[in-house]
Amino acid sequence: MPKMLKEVIKNLLSPPATVNYPFVKPTPVPGTRGALNWDMSRCDQCQDCERVCPSVAIKVYPEEKKIEYQPFKCLFCYLCIENCMQQAISGSDIVAEPAYTKIVKVFKTET
Ligand code: SF4
Ligand code: SF4
Repeated sequence: MPKMLKEVIKNLLSPPATVNYPFVKPTPVPGTRGALNWDMSRCDQCQDCERVCPSVAIKVYPEEKKIEYQPFKCLFCYLCIENCMQQAISGSDIVAEPAYTKIVKVFKTET
């Protein structure tokens, strides 16, 4: 009991372990897997990223040189990054904010 009391007092006097998200942005821990980005100048429209994506979050349109990515379907497994031979996809530690609509991000090759 005295051991527990010591823990209770310590926790009462310590700052909270959590932050008031989304008003306060937490500092990402190293290795956080967040938002994806496509460098379309490197992309050759091979569709490998679409094929390996387990959650069908990527759709490649080779004729239009366009990629659609649905972040709300994404598992952040980074299989697409690992399998892109052109290294056109990169990850970041930016974690998606809460949203009311399921957005689709469109990446297009500049012509
Ligand atoms: S795997 Fe890479 S090069 Fe192939 S379509 Fe996807 S982003 Fe483009
Ligand atoms: S990180 Fe995984 S789930 Fe997300 S788009 Fe890439 S392959 Fe699909």
